[in-house]
Order: sequence, then structure tokens, then C-alpha cells
Amino acid sequence: MFHASWLTSLLLISSLLAPTGARSDPGHEALHQLHQQTWTTRQGIPHNTINAIAQTPDGYLWFATWEGIARFNGHRFRIFERSPQTGLPDAGVLSLSLTPNGRLLAAGARGGISLTDGRNWTPFEPAPTMISHAVIDAHDELWLATQGAGVIRRPARPSGGEDQSYLPGDSSTHILPDDSGIWAATSRGLLHASGDSETLLGPESGLPAAPVLTLLRRKDDQLLVGTEQGLYMRNRGESEFRPVHEDLNDLAVSALLEDHGGALWIGTISTGLFRLQQGRIEHLGTEDGLPNNRVLAIFQDREDSIWVGTNGGLFRLRSAPFVTLTREQGLAGNYVRALLSHSDGSLWVGTSEGVSRLQGREIEPVVDRDGPIDLSILSLAESTGGDVLIGTHSDGMLHWRDGQIIARHDRSTGMPSNDIRYIQVDSRKRIWVATASGLARIEDGDISVFRPEDGLPGDFVIAVHEDRQGRIWVGTGFGLARLQGDRFEPISLRHLDEAMYVYGIHEDREAPLLWLATDRGLIRYHPDTGRADLIGRDAGIPVDKLFHVVDDRQGGFWLTSNRGIVRVRKDQAIAVAEGERKTVDLELYTEGDGMISAQANGGAGPAAVWHDDQVRIATAVGLASVDPLHLTRYEETILPVSIEQFEADGRPIELMPPIELPPGTNRIAIQFAGLGFIMPQRIRYRTRLEGFDDDWVSRGSQSVAEYTNLGPGEYVFHVSAAYPYGDWNGSETSIRFTIAPLPWQRAWFWVVATIGLIGAILLMTRWRLHRLEQRAAELRRQVEEKTRELKRQAENFERQARIDQLTGLANRRAFDEWLAAEFERSKTRGEILSLVVMDLDHFKRVNDDYSHLVGDLVMKKVADVLREHIRTGDQAARWGGEEFTLTFHATDARAAAHISERIRRSLESTNFDPIAPGLSITASFGISDSTAANNYESLLRQADHALYQAKAEGRNRVIIHITDIKK
Ligand code: GH3
Ligand code: MG
Ligand code: MG
Repeated sequence: MFHASWLTSLLLISSLLAPTGARSDPGHEALHQLHQQTWTTRQGIPHNTINAIAQTPDGYLWFATWEGIARFNGHRFRIFERSPQTGLPDAGVLSLSLTPNGRLLAAGARGGISLTDGRNWTPFEPAPTMISHAVIDAHDELWLATQGAGVIRRPARPSGGEDQSYLPGDSSTHILPDDSGIWAATSRGLLHASGDSETLLGPESGLPAAPVLTLLRRKDDQLLVGTEQGLYMRNRGESEFRPVHEDLNDLAVSALLEDHGGALWIGTISTGLFRLQQGRIEHLGTEDGLPNNRVLAIFQDREDSIWVGTNGGLFRLRSAPFVTLTREQGLAGNYVRALLSHSDGSLWVGTSEGVSRLQGREIEPVVDRDGPIDLSILSLAESTGGDVLIGTHSDGMLHWRDGQIIARHDRSTGMPSNDIRYIQVDSRKRIWVATASGLARIEDGDISVFRPEDGLPGDFVIAVHEDRQGRIWVGTGFGLARLQGDRFEPISLRHLDEAMYVYGIHEDREAPLLWLATDRGLIRYHPDTGRADLIGRDAGIPVDKLFHVVDDRQGGFWLTSNRGIVRVRKDQAIAVAEGERKTVDLELYTEGDGMISAQANGGAGPAAVWHDDQVRIATAVGLASVDPLHLTRYEETILPVSIEQFEADGRPIELMPPIELPPGTNRIAIQFAGLGFIMPQRIRYRTRLEGFDDDWVSRGSQSVAEYTNLGPGEYVFHVSAAYPYGDWNGSETSIRFTIAPLPWQRAWFWVVATIGLIGAILLMTRWRLHRLEQRAAELRRQVEEKTRELKRQAENFERQARIDQLTGLANRRAFDEWLAAEFERSKTRGEILSLVVMDLDHFKRVNDDYSHLVGDLVMKKVADVLREHIRTGDQAARWGGEEFTLTFHATDARAAAHISERIRRSLESTNFDPIAPGLSITASFGISDSTAANNYESLLRQADHALYQAKAEGRNRVIIHITDIKK
């Protein structure tokens, strides 16, 4: 499952992190002076009992607890618990050990065993009981030290194999592989097992009659045996064990370590931690900061830190960049105000409770005849002949020589104040004394005082400096001033961000320049030109108020402040002053770096000096010292980097090659960690995404790289880590991934798309043609429909033009046409055509007596009566008004009169009550036929004439026209 090249690169990196001789060894410092740090459940470890500690080749530290295994990257703990992933049957892990090929073997409660390469876990067949220690030896044999089942040997395979047991009824706590088998710590003594033989060593070989708890083989082949009653040793070739050190006799020894410097670390069951080096024993217990006196594991990591697993948390000891000396180490007081690097090689330390002198590692009080000087000290200076001038807070200035105060200068002797802030002895042996109320000068015993009226910018004088040219400079609460003749010339710095206080004056070691520590940052001042440039907040200095500048001879300036010590590179400070750079890179050192308090003192002093190749700083709690070389040694550290998390569009991606991301992947976030534990917060990173970045991108301390809008393609992400001042040193890890292209980001897509497009165009064209045809047919259909409609309408109009709207009978126009045609036809056929003209009687009265509407209804009814009486082929028409015509073909006047008489009677008897009660209607009829008419006009005239006659004769009657001839 594990990718070969992946593993190789891990192993390669891990081999680069081999310890180097340049590293500091915790053995150089007293056990108590080592920097301590404790982690408990509050800092993320799963349980406060740390049973075992290991470091894998990839650089991670691993801690076994009762609640799982914690993997540490310097910042965070990642917890591996009982889970299908680890295959452990219980979260309680008691043993961690590395296999010969660098994998981590974990074992513990319920007999669980699991092997991991850091990513995959391979569970092994569990043991029948709790395992205290598990080891895979060089012969690929798995050895288990168990509770109650002795020592078990089995093949190192997940499936196990036949177990071989030694001391099966007893308990064992530690296995130490050996050329010819193993040594085991057991409840019955020291066991040696190989093949079928087992040898138990007890009192007869010099060991006490007590359970053995732990074992160690030292580099010189010495075998160490930690028992419940002391620590014993035996050199190779010897047969007898003997006690290691009398101070360790009777102690129950539970953990052993030989560190890289050869010192022996001894953990005990109830008395804390011991270190034995060069025959000297040191002890560290809970009273010294150890979280608990029960020590279960001791481990040294590749950066030489000592890790201690206790019952009360995880504890780490390391040599920190800063070493702090306090009253505990013999300083007169903890509140340190002034330092003096004396020409005799000692360092004088002025505190609020007296003065101490540091000579090498020894600290001694500075005494007067009556004993140690216990005044509150503000300033120190060396005078002629090695004498020391001691400035106090309220007792003036003391002149010290060879254990005696030989003079005191205070207000009573003419000093402007007893509050002595700074003392400078110049090349002419004049003593300049800065006080809170002016500057005093002592020359041949005469005191002269300089005040604002003498050109000083203010009363409050805090620094005095004589430069290489013999010029006297003073720093005050109102800026800088320079002595000119017998007066001072003030130099305001207020144009630089309102800077006022000049706490420290440092003369450049190479150039004629002054570096001023001010309340607005660092100011570079050219004494000759008066030019001043600020390197302050805008340049990245994290604090306003700087007290002192110390040049570390390594190209660095150490700037002290109330909130830690800032180191900047001098070349960068110059570049900012020259306007060539905006900001400086900086390191801020605080408590985590070995200072007990990061509050450096100022306003008096000097409170920071260069002494014995170290920067020495007066702090609120002790004298802090830092060796700049101590930091540059990290230049050689090659930090392994681990890529811890890979996210694509917010989804975590398993870090298992090949990493292939889906098309359209937009956002990628890669989280990494430089596995350095000395200064994890100072690790800086750079990354390069091959396929995207042309060059390395500096990430600062940011441990995540995010990319958006990466196109499809192949990428290799590279990351390396380094400590400040450290080189990248080729420390690098990489991960390859691809983003699959979206369909349209592939070449074949365009081939297919083009073919598809052409096809689509063809289809579209065809479809369009088809549609056009359909449209044409539809149009044709609509036109036809319209035409038919128009025709129908025309026909309707035509019909309506020939029909009387009220009665539905033919109208006069139709009648006229029809009569003309019928008259001709009848003549042609030799038939007689009769014509009746009928006029309703007194119809005007109907309208008048009833209404026009009633008249209309009557007219319709009359039409109905007419229709009832005519035959097919005959015709009734409304001729106009209340006049109607009837034509009968093949009928003479007499027959027509018959029909008319029937109509007349019918009308007369028609009941019109539904239309208008009491209404009755009669009509008069005039009849003619074609026998006596030459044309249809005369036929009409004759019928009309007969009607006229009917009216005249009294209405409601039928009259046939009598031709004159017949008469
Ligand atoms: P006479 O017996 O002499 O025919 O008397 P009359 O009132 O019928 O004669 P006249 O010709 O003077 O009057 C015809 C009346 O018929 C006039 C008009 O008011 C009425 N009339 C004609 N056409 C219509 C019609 O379409 N509806 C109605 N309600 N009345 C009509
Ligand atoms: Mg009429
Ligand atoms: Mg009439």
C-alpha cells in the first residue's frame, strides 16, 4: 500500500536530520538551568500519564497514553485512538518502539499491537494479556513483555505465529534485544532468553532480590539494570553487577536514557528525575518544575531536547537560547537594572537589592567593608584602575575600590540628585553622571551641573556617551544633546514620529554613526550631517519603546524592550534607514526562549551589554544571557517537513499517491509542519508549486499554502522549513498531484465537439426545412380556411341581401328577380303563373294602438301563416311594409284565389292573444295571372290593382283582377 518513493523521500529527509556536533547539549548547563516546558491535557495531550515516547524518521514525536497515542508536530497533537484505523483493541498504549526499518510499533492494554508507517496502521494478532513493552528485533522477531504472561516471542507478522513463552507466569516490563536474544526486565529478576534457553540473573550476580523494571545498553556496551532497589551496571565481559552511584541506591528506577552527550538520565517511580554525568548526580523533582515525581519514560529527540513522560504530564528540558540567572543562582536580587562588563572579565550586575559579580559560572556579591552592598542600584560604570562607580536609586553615586566604598557623591556633595541613572567616564577621566534632575560632571573632584539653561533639552538625563572622536552625547526625555564647548546643543528628534526619549546611545562599530534606542524605535543618527532616520513601527518593530542596542558581532542588533528582546539584522536596519527597504525581518524573544521575564529594564543602566560573547540583558526577573552563536547553530539544522493535510475545495484528500483531483477543482489548501521542537513558533516556510510558481514563495511562519483557480495539469508541491538564521539546507518534501481537465479542457473534446457541431448544424437545417414546409402547409390551410370563410360570409351576405330580416321571407329584391325569371319560364313552358299581393288591413292602427314591437311580432306571425299555405316551388315574399306577395306556378288566378281565401280565413282566425290580448288581424288580397299579362310588370300592376279594389270594397277579401278584354 505504501508508495515506495514516498517512503524513500521520508527516509532521505530523516537521514538528513542526523544530530550534529554543533548542537548544544543540555549537558552543558546545570539541570536546573535547562529550559522547562510542560504539556498536560490542557495543551492537547489525551491523558496526563505518558507511558512511552518515540520519534519516527519523518520527524514526528509520539507519546503513548492511556487514552491513545498523540503525534506531535511542535504545535498540535494528533490523537490516534482505538479505532478500525489503528486496529488497537484499547486506547491504553504502554509501549512505543521503532522497528529496525523505522516503523513505529505500539502495544498496550488488552494485548493490542499495531505497526504504523505514520499513515497506515497494521494491527497484529493481539497478545492474551496487557503488554508493557513490545520490540521487533533485527531478526524480525516480535518480543512482548507482558503482565502475567512473561515474555512472549513470535514472528513479527500481523497474523503472528507460534508463541514461545519465557517465565509464563510472571510479569515483564522491558525488553532489550541483544546479539544472542534478549534481556528482559521481569518481576523475578533479569532474564536472558535466546532460542530455547532462558537464564534468570538475581542476587548471585550482584543484583538485588527485587523486580527489574527497566534496562539500557550504553554506547560503551555497558548494561544498565534499573530495579525496584537501585540502578546496577555491568561492563561487557564482566559477570558481576554493581551499583551505578551510591545516591541511586534503593531508588526504584523506571526509565533510563543515555543522551547524545553521554549523560545518563534516570527516571524513578516516586523520586523524580536524575542526571548523572562525569560522576556528578543532579536531581529534578516536582519542587523544581517536574510535573510529577513518577517518571515513566525518558527520550531525547534529534534536536537534543530531553522529553520526560510522567504521571502528571509531558515534560521537556532543553537548552534555550536565553539562560536566566536569578537570586536562586546567587544574584543579589531579581530586579536587575544595570550591567557592567568589567575589564577584568567579570560582569557586574546591579539589582534593586544590591550588586553581584559574575565571574565565569560563579556569582559573588559585591561587598563593602560591612558586607554585601544591598542598595537599590540603577547604574554602573568602570572607572580608572578597575574601580567601579555604582549609581543608586536614592543614595547617590558610590565609588568602589577593592571591596570598599571609598567615596560617595550625593546631593550633600553637590550632585543635582541622588537618583543616578547613568555614569560615563570619558577619555579625559571626567565622570559624567546622569540624574533625574540634570547632568553632573566631576572633573578633578569638582562637580559642575548642566541643566536646561545650559542647553540640555530637559532635566531628565538617562544616557551619556563619548564617541570615538571624543564628543559627548546625552540622551534625555526631550531628545538628544551634544556638548559644544561648555554648553549642550539640543537635537530634537520629534520630526521622527514624535520621538522624545533617548534611552540608549550605541555607536556603530564600523561607521561614524550613532544608533539611538528611543520611545519611537531605533534611530540612525549621523553626527556630522545631523541626518536622522527612524526604523520604528512602520518598519515592523513590534514595540515603540526601545531601551538599548547591542551589536552581537554576527550582523545583528539586539534591541531590548519592556515586551521582549528584538533581534534585527543590521544590514536591513541600514536598508530601511536608506529607504531601500520598507521593513526589517525580526525575531522577538520572550519567556518561551528561556527568559523568566521578557520585560527588559531601561531608563537607567546600561541595562544591556555585550559580555563574554553574549548579549546580557537586565530584566525584571534576573539577568538574561543569549549566545548569538547558539542561534546560528540552527543554520545547520535540517528540519523535516511533513505535509499534514491536503484539501481540495474544502474536502480532505487522502495523502496517498497518486493524488488525482476531479475536473473543476478550484481551491487547494495544503497544510504542512516543520518538525522542529526547539522553536516551533519560529519555524519559517517556503513553498513552490511546480506547474504554477516559477520560484520559491516565502510563507513566513504560515504553515498552510492555498491556491485557487489552478488549471488542469500536473503539479508538484514543494515545501521546506528552517529556523530563523537557518538555511533551507535542502530540507524539502514534496507531493505530486494532478487536476483532471474538464471535458472542454481536453483535445479530443474539440474533435468530438466539432463533429457534433457539424452534425447539429445538419440536423438543424433539416429540421428547419421541415419546419418551413410545415409552416407553408399551415399557411396554405389557413388561406383556404379564410377563403372558405370569406366565401361563406359572402354567401351569407348574398343570402341576407335577398331575405327579409324580420320575417325570413324573400325580400322584394329577391322577389322581383324571381318573378321576372319565373314569368319567362312560365311563358316558355306554356304554364300559367299567378301572383297574389296581400296587404294587412289597418296595420297602422296596430302600431299605434299597441307598439311597433307588437307590429313586428304580428308581421312574423303572418309570415308563418303564409309559409303554411304555400307549396314547394311556390314563393312567398315580403314586398315592403305590411305588403306580401305570393306566386304560384302552374296555377291560374282562380286557383290562386282559393289558396288566398284559405289564407285570409286562417289569418282572420289566428289567435294573436299571446302577442297582444284582443288583437286580431285581417288582410286584403289582389290576384292576377299571366294569361293576360305580357310581362311581369303588368302582372304586378294587375294584382296591385285587384288589391286596391279589395281595399276599396271593405278589406278582408280576395279580388281577382278582371282584364278589360274579358269584361
Ligand atoms: P289599409 O287597410 O288601408 O291598408 O290601412 P293601413 O293602416 O294598413 O294602411 P297604410 O298603408 O296607411 O299604413 C301602413 C302601415 O303599416 C304604416 C306602417 O306604420 C305600418 N307598417 C309598414 N311596415 C311595417 C313594419 O315593418 N312594422 C310595423 N310594425 N308596421 C309597419
Ligand atoms: Mg299598405
Ligand atoms: Mg295596409
